[in-house]
Amino acid sequence: MENRDRFTGVNSIKFNKSFSSDEDCYSYISAIKWEQGYKCKRCGKEKFMKGVKPFSRRCSSCKYDESPTAGTMFDKVKFSLLVAFHIAFKISTKVKGMSSLELSHEFELRQPTCWEFKWKIQQAMQSSKQYPLEGEVHMDEFFIGGPEEQKRGRSKGKKRLVVIALEKVTDGVGRSYAQIIEHSSAAEFKPFFNTYIGKDANVITDEWNGYLPLKKEYLNLKQIPSNGGKNFPDLHIHIMNLKSWLRGIHHHCSKERLQGYLDEYHYRYNRRNNMDTIFHLLIKRMVNNEPRRLKSNN
Ligand SMILES: [Zn+2]
Repeated sequence: MENRDRFTGVNSIKFNKSFSSDEDCYSYISAIKWEQGYKCKRCGKEKFMKGVKPFSRRCSSCKYDESPTAGTMFDKVKFSLLVAFHIAFKISTKVKGMSSLELSHEFELRQPTCWEFKWKIQQAMQSSKQYPLEGEVHMDEFFIGGPEEQKRGRSKGKKRLVVIALEKVTDGVGRSYAQIIEHSSAAEFKPFFNTYIGKDANVITDEWNGYLPLKKEYLNLKQIPSNGGKNFPDLHIHIMNLKSWLRGIHHHCSKERLQGYLDEYHYRYNRRNNMDTIFHLLIKRMVNNEPRRLKSNN
């Protein structure tokens, strides 16, 4: 897809002009799907003709007809592609996203239908895990769900424990990632560190001994007293905002589902100064990802 054909910005009037029919969306998906050229899924040949459905491509050799949505997260969506694009636009560009209940009212769809599609979007919003946090990184853990209790109490009941990291930059804060963990232990912290934190980062945590063993691998890790969170003001504001957003839209949900919300929040948060490409990137990820199905136990 040419740069000039990419949708940029968050202006809904412009969005409505660019996408006013299913055809517009098929065209957009096909431009992303085959931007590196066409190759038949069945026989691997690279010559094609026009397919039967709009913007589909038919292999000149084996005649396999592939629609733009086949094999993408838009495959078998239960409403029109235009609605799917509108939902993706709202969720990616509105500061607080939209709950499945709000979506169901706005688009006159059943709430479970919106919920399922939103889950796909959240999967596409997962971090690429390619760009770990660098420089000064503050870390902490917090509980979600249920009444507040002592942070590292013995029983967490139905509450979920989340570990979170926030980059400090000269003029404020940078990016952030969060992940559900089972315990505040080094074994649980390690995969999070290895995925999201650069080895040279100046990590700062409170004095919890669960972080101690990580000093072997993260040589610049420093521990300071938390002073009731006062020594980590930016991180605590970030956690407060995240929790209040979650309270507004999410009730009890499974571990996997909650991770989806954490991913959604941070997808937007980490692009808050880069909103021009936020919608296009989401669509691109949804096109390039395999379709995912909800597991029945979610
Ligand atoms: Zn073929």
